[in-house]
Amino acid sequence: MKKSILLSLVLILSVSVGLFAQKKSSEKRVKTEHVFEALPYAYDALEKSIDKETMEIHYDRHHRAYFNNFVKAIPGTELEYLSLEEIFAGMSKYPVAVRNNGGGHYNHNLFWSVMSPDGGGKPQNELMAAIESTFGNFEEFQKLFEQAGATRFGSGWAWLSLDENGKLFISSTPNQDNPLMDVVEQRGTPILGLDVWEHAYYLRYQNKRAGYMSAFWDVVNWNEVERRFAAARK
Ligand code: MN
Repeated sequence: MKKSILLSLVLILSVSVGLFAQKKSSEKRVKTEHVFEALPYAYDALEKSIDKETMEIHYDRHHRAYFNNFVKAIPGTELEYLSLEEIFAGMSKYPVAVRNNGGGHYNHNLFWSVMSPDGGGKPQNELMAAIESTFGNFEEFQKLFEQAGATRFGSGWAWLSLDENGKLFISSTPNQDNPLMDVVEQRGTPILGLDVWEHAYYLRYQNKRAGYMSAFWDVVNWNEVERRFAAARK
C-alpha cells in the first residue's frame, strides 16, 4: 500500500514537471513574422520586358493571394515558429496549402528581387567565373536556363541554384515548388528564379513564353544574384 502511494506521488510529480517544462519551452518560442513586402520598384519600372498591368496584377493579386493564404494556413500549428526555409526543408510532412502558398510567397519575393529597371548585362567576378566553369560560357548558360523554362509543361519556375557542394545547377520545378523543398528532384539554394506561369507574361506575350524569357535578361538584377550567390556559399 505504502509503495503504491509512493509510486503515485512520483508519477504525479513527474507529470507536473513534464507539463511545466513543456509550458516553459513553448513560452520561449517566438512566432515567425511573415511580411508582404513592398515591390522594390514601380509597376511600370520593368516596362522594357514586363508591362505595367502584368506587374500590378501579378504582385497585387497573385502574390498577395499566396501570402494571405499562407499566413491563414499556419496558425495553431508548429509551422508558426519556423522560417520559410525551415518549412521547405520539411515540406513533405506539411499540407499542400502550405506548399503551394508558402512556395508562392517565397518564390515571388525572390523573383521581384532579382529584377531591376537598371538590370541586364552580365554578372561579374566570381559568379561569372562560376557560370563559365559550369556551363562553358554565359550564352550557353542563358540557353540552358531558357530551355528549363520552355520545357516546363504547364506552370512552374526555372532556377539557377547552388547545390550542397557549392556547384551551380539549372533546374525547373512545377507549380510553386522551389529547390529548397525536400520534395524536389534536385535540392539547392536558388539565386535566380523565373516565373513561367502564364499569369507572368500572357498579356504582352500571349502564348510566346520564349519571347518573355529572352526579354527577362534585360531586367535581371545581377547585383542581387551575386549577393545571393555569395550568401549561399558561406
Ligand atoms: Mn507568379
